[in-house]
Amino acid sequence: MSDSQTADIRSLTLAELKARIEELGEPGYRAKQIFSWLHRKNAVGWEEMSDLPAKLRERLITEVPLREAPVVRRQESAIDGTVKVLFELFDGNLIESVLMHYRFGYSVCISSQAGCRMGCAFCASTLSGLSRNLTAGEMLSQVYAFERELSEGERVSHVVVMGSGEPMENYDEVIRFFRLLAAPEGHKLSLRNMTVSTCGIIPGIRRLSQEGIPVNLAISLHAPNDEIRSQIMPVARKYPMEELLDACRDYFALTGRRLTWEYALIRDINDREEHARELADRIRGITGVVNLIPVNPVKERGLHEPDRDGVRHFQKVLNEHGTEATIRRTLGRDIDGACGQLRRKLVEE
Ligand code: SAH
Repeated sequence: MSDSQTADIRSLTLAELKARIEELGEPGYRAKQIFSWLHRKNAVGWEEMSDLPAKLRERLITEVPLREAPVVRRQESAIDGTVKVLFELFDGNLIESVLMHYRFGYSVCISSQAGCRMGCAFCASTLSGLSRNLTAGEMLSQVYAFERELSEGERVSHVVVMGSGEPMENYDEVIRFFRLLAAPEGHKLSLRNMTVSTCGIIPGIRRLSQEGIPVNLAISLHAPNDEIRSQIMPVARKYPMEELLDACRDYFALTGRRLTWEYALIRDINDREEHARELADRIRGITGVVNLIPVNPVKERGLHEPDRDGVRHFQKVLNEHGTEATIRRTLGRDIDGACGQLRRKLVEE
């Protein structure tokens, strides 16, 4: 087990927690109580765990740190109620997460890394590079923190790993996060309601195909060919589009789960009619849906979104070429909704 996992009690599975408790010379059955407090009842501190003996609680308080990441900034959209928060981790790193309210329930978008090293031209998360990977427990804390704010009986129903960071570069911890969130003794969130998004790290996609968990996969494509893609996504130079699409084909063959293609429309770069046609040709035969996102402008990058008609036209052309496409509702525009924008702002201040 790595140091980060032993340091972070929320990252442990029930079996690992049991071993940890027994190491302390305490009865293993306490693990189930503690796991439930951590993952079902969203406890922040040992003192809350009222069904543990007082002596054990005192011991845990002094011997086992239960790190909570305080919220250092919170912004709520006046338009749609989307909430974005900035957490400060124990080592001073700042990460951001978003809570969105949809008709079907509450969805949380979490970060998987502090910063990012992928270098996408339109993304604010990558502007200061990668600081470090997050642990599974730190990813869970983002979900649980929002859940504590909801009214009695309301729960987070969907989780997307689409905040800062490249989840496939932190593969093991992201998978651990998914499994913990689905644990029957914990939150019991359905794996089918979890989504991981990647900029196209092929080995990660191939591992996920074999992982045997029914989570959803989104691919950040953002271009119809390598020429455009490599201008805005450096990762395209390492993993060419044809190989990426092969991995996606295999993913569907192995899992039977349809993919989401994310496509951020950027004016004069990837938003022409011929781009829509080429995109439809390239992904034909791979079961999936294109999610069109008018790029959220990031002032440092000088990139702009197409106008509303341009977005609709792009969608129409995809449809005419047999490709299903939806336009992402933009939530939280007034609260620095795009990846890494809030963190960036605070760091600049
Ligand atoms: N690294 C992963 C997940 C994090 S980004 C990935 O690349 O998929 C989540 C999504 O937001 C990605 O599709 C990313 O390309 C997109 N994104 C980042 N900045 C954006 C912006 N300014 N406008 C619109 N989408 C953006």
